[in-house]
Amino acid sequence: MNVPMRPSADPTDAAFLADVAVGEVRLSPEQAMTLFHDMPLPELGRWADARSRAIHGDHIRTYVIDRNINYTNVCTAKCTFCAFRRDLGADDAYTLSTPEILSKIAELTDIGGTQILMQGGMNPELPLAWYESLLADIQAAHPEVHVHAFSPPEVVEFVHFFDPPGSTFRDKVRWVLSRLKRAGLQSIPGGGGEIFAPAVRRKIGLGKCDAEIWLTVMNVAHELGMNTSATMMFGHIEGVADRIHHMALVREWQDRALQDFEQDGGGRYMAFISWPFQRENTPLGRVKEWDRAVEGPFPGDVVARLDGEGDKSAHPEFGRRVRMSGASDYLRTQALSRLMLDNIYSIGASWVTMGPHVGQLALSFGANDMGSVMMEENVVSAAGTTYCLSEPVLCHLIRDAGFTPAQRDNGYDLLAVHDTDASPDLQVDDWSELRRQKLHIESTDAGDAVSLTVAPN
Ligand code: SF4
Repeated sequence: MNVPMRPSADPTDAAFLADVAVGEVRLSPEQAMTLFHDMPLPELGRWADARSRAIHGDHIRTYVIDRNINYTNVCTAKCTFCAFRRDLGADDAYTLSTPEILSKIAELTDIGGTQILMQGGMNPELPLAWYESLLADIQAAHPEVHVHAFSPPEVVEFVHFFDPPGSTFRDKVRWVLSRLKRAGLQSIPGGGGEIFAPAVRRKIGLGKCDAEIWLTVMNVAHELGMNTSATMMFGHIEGVADRIHHMALVREWQDRALQDFEQDGGGRYMAFISWPFQRENTPLGRVKEWDRAVEGPFPGDVVARLDGEGDKSAHPEFGRRVRMSGASDYLRTQALSRLMLDNIYSIGASWVTMGPHVGQLALSFGANDMGSVMMEENVVSAAGTTYCLSEPVLCHLIRDAGFTPAQRDNGYDLLAVHDTDASPDLQVDDWSELRRQKLHIESTDAGDAVSLTVAPN
């Protein structure tokens, strides 16, 4: 049953927010907008934390050990924020072989990892049989590893490349996902969510699917019993109303999934993760930064509307100015997502882009999960700053924030609660070696795909 709204309530009223925090009432987009602009950051954080504690309790905050495997960098899309993609035939274009992928998974299981996040560019040369045989080989060699792979834009390209049977787009997606699921695909990551509003999406995601299609792919996955995650990349040309519209759409489609498929064992969005745009080495990053003092209202805010119907002609500089996000804008946006998304279980902290200490702080601003011990990351790191943490350091950050760290699996079931002296962080006598492994990469060379490795503990 959907949580009711109370649209006439003052969203800054403590009694109203106390009801939001326990999940009895849901924020309207207009109320979310007021909170974003009017509520001091510490107060917004306290309410988001209250909501997080109502869902996850006061003690445990989680992380997962997985590995990003970017199986190809060949991509037919030309997203303006991407420094990772290559054209087919480019000198540094690559597609990993199955043995290379299996060897990366073996390195993951050696350090206690449980999941791979496998995403590529959209490579027109790979047939469906390539994916099916890869998934089957992974399943055979590593049946214990959860395969979280192929974000909606890739699935859309699969539909174009494979020309599956079916009279509607939905039928075709169902056919493709059913085949991949049978071969070993277990859940779908939320890549390519970016910002759903069409005016923004058309500017930043050339060649990528629109919001309706993105959400439909995920809805079919839910119908087939697969869980997914939702994402949002903000801090570029969008307005604040676009962020809230994006969250509201995720919430609405989650309602649909729960209503239509839950009784039959359907899937759902398990998590929402948002992060600020990283600008280095990307076409969008070359766009001029907005100067509040000189230029007046930010073009993205002038164009954006809560119903997502913003018209780019509302400001001549729309798409020609970016408003980069810092720590406070990130924490404010994440806190609001915890309060808006009453039907989503987990909010992930984005330390990969924001750094470990902002990620740690995010645990007090609505996040309950620190994401993954990062063995390898190629897409964000190709666009600038990325951080790399080992399991003891991640546990230490969670404990230092006042919580008990716990390793989880993809379904958010706890695998190990680290509440004894045997915990990874409490085993460390000398942190100097681990501090050396805490890599902070700032990539500046266009064309570099930076690969990071954490040594086993
Ligand atoms: S973000 Fe993904 S889909 Fe977009 S160009 Fe880069 S690799 Fe391709």
